[in-house]
Amino acid sequence: MDIISLLIDLHKTSLRLGPGSDETTRKAINCTGLDHTAPVKIADIGCGTGASTIVLAEELNAHITAIDFSDDFIRVLHKRAKERTVTHKIKTIVGCMEELPFDDEEYDVIWSEGAIYNMGFEKGVRDWKRYLKPDGILAVSEITWLTKNYPKELQDYWEAEYPEIDTAAAKIAVLEDAGYSLAGYFYLPETCWLENYYIPLQEKFEEFLERHSQCKDAVEIIENEKKEITLYQKYKKYYSYGFYIAQKVE
Ligand code: SAH
Repeated sequence: MDIISLLIDLHKTSLRLGPGSDETTRKAINCTGLDHTAPVKIADIGCGTGASTIVLAEELNAHITAIDFSDDFIRVLHKRAKERTVTHKIKTIVGCMEELPFDDEEYDVIWSEGAIYNMGFEKGVRDWKRYLKPDGILAVSEITWLTKNYPKELQDYWEAEYPEIDTAAAKIAVLEDAGYSLAGYFYLPETCWLENYYIPLQEKFEEFLERHSQCKDAVEIIENEKKEITLYQKYKKYYSYGFYIAQKVE
């Protein structure tokens, strides 16, 4: 099994594939100012196993196109949507966020939790804008420094993992430069990282290693996850995921 397949295998039974919660998805929905009864067309990009997709479907009169490059994750999304009786509101596509099969100005809303980093925040917000209707809404979560001063150990780690990590002020400037206006910003509380993401993930480590006979790549994946978790526990006051809600203005 290659590294990507191993990563998918580790994560695919998780409710969330990154930090987040139903509450913060709802909070972001409130920031959009959307009417909960009016029909709305939404793309959920990098939907994973459907954490945000399901909440959007439950909260809004939405037609959602959920897209992810993993068909394993999409299969789990379908199972969950069925359990929560929202299947009729969701269409899925297995595809790449850098080559979206969408029409220009097709969507009222583009949603993406913990996924835009895969193509980079700036490229993502710029490329995806064309798919939004005039005045359309973009809602994305993205790793963010909570202060300008942070320990060197942490800076070295995250700048190597994701060089685009920055402060909210810098991310908001990127949005404004790209032709959006900010409608809301908040950052995710600790429960979104620990209770909803890292703790359930940690519980899978041992079984995952057994299932893959402690192979080198599997061991390395778990070592990397452990390192990320240890750093979070040590330095969580310096960073989180920021949730950015912005409107297309030009
Ligand atoms: N939004 C989900 C998943 C976040 S994890 C949640 O909050 O739980 C990031 C997701 O992006 C994964 O599901 C991964 O499969 C997907 N992904 C990564 N690169 C991608 C790409 N190039 N195109 C589409 N999806 C991608």
